[in-house]
Amino acid sequence: MSSQLKDFSLARLRDDFALRGIARYRADQVAGWLYQHGVEDPMAMTNLDLPLRERLASEWQSRALDVDRVQESSDGTRKLVLRTHDGAVLEAVLIPEERRNTLCISTQVGCPLACSFCATGALGFTRNLTTAEIVDQVCRAREVIDAAPALAGEEERLSNIVFMGMGEPLLNLPNVLESIRILTDPKAFGMAPRRITVSTAGVVPKIRPLLEVGPINLAVSLHAVRDEVRDVLVPINQKFPLQVLLDTLRNEELISRRRPVFFEYTLMKGVNDSLEDARLLPELLRGIPSKLNVIPMNPHPDAPYEAPDRDVIDRFTAALHEGGLRVTLRRNRGADIDAACGQLAAREVRSERAKGS
Ligand code: SAH
Repeated sequence: MSSQLKDFSLARLRDDFALRGIARYRADQVAGWLYQHGVEDPMAMTNLDLPLRERLASEWQSRALDVDRVQESSDGTRKLVLRTHDGAVLEAVLIPEERRNTLCISTQVGCPLACSFCATGALGFTRNLTTAEIVDQVCRAREVIDAAPALAGEEERLSNIVFMGMGEPLLNLPNVLESIRILTDPKAFGMAPRRITVSTAGVVPKIRPLLEVGPINLAVSLHAVRDEVRDVLVPINQKFPLQVLLDTLRNEELISRRRPVFFEYTLMKGVNDSLEDARLLPELLRGIPSKLNVIPMNPHPDAPYEAPDRDVIDRFTAALHEGGLRVTLRRNRGADIDAACGQLAAREVRSERAKGS
């Protein structure tokens, strides 16, 4: 198969071009077209000479994903249903807010971690996404934004990227790192690293290598204060229990008050929403510069959990405040199109399977 231009960070693309006898600076020009101008057809890259354009067109691919459809929620959230060349379906979610426009992207088709409350986890694991497939989610999202800008008054550029879609980013680390290099390279997307957040369920040995790629944000899916509960919700806890995870973060010198950990806590009725849990949490996180995001469970047919009542949620977050934690409550965006946290892709893949069987 031909090579894929978007699989390479600029440094590697220059090297690869050099090996093929193409001048290194040509890689910079190509990256400018792909990521700054959104031009994928080599024949349209007019500052390249014609033989090079023809060579790129015949030896390389430049597009990794096609848009199956775009669904828009009543709250303005847009879900992109995307398809790879081998027919895998994945999703990315555009979340417009007042001062930012966040894109939530996927790193795997399905997920091997099987967290009991997550719709993606219920799918099982198909494969890792390639670097180009990760990066192309951003390219496709920019086209969607350009074709129909967000509601008046909302930010129109893509301002933030969160690796919180389908899959576990730290189990696809090389491709995640390469895509971050492309996103942050001033000659490619040129995004500020602090506008990128990568979320993990707690693949402890890969946390340090992730933090070393640059000053991006780390998010950690916590969801429980006791191993008995977390073992069930986030089964990778059986391999890397709470104390191991939290001690690693506590001792990690790349984490600081300026670069805190963003903990996510999906709140489930009767499972992890007690006041005692709320009192234990600040204790547990002591010594880790952190912010905590409370996400009321988004229910879906593959999990037996539901969100607590509003007053329980309020009491829980109030108790965290009192314990000295910096807490935010995440609004459920896009739930009417199955685009909210933990709802991604189940429907599509299920209907694909139904068709195949
Ligand atoms: N595997 C990574 C990346 C996925 S992030 C991780 O676990 O961090 C997806 C986020 O959505 C996680 O914080 C996850 O806990 C949360 N989530 C998953 N299912 C959910 C659900 N049904 N309701 C609310 N949040 C959910």
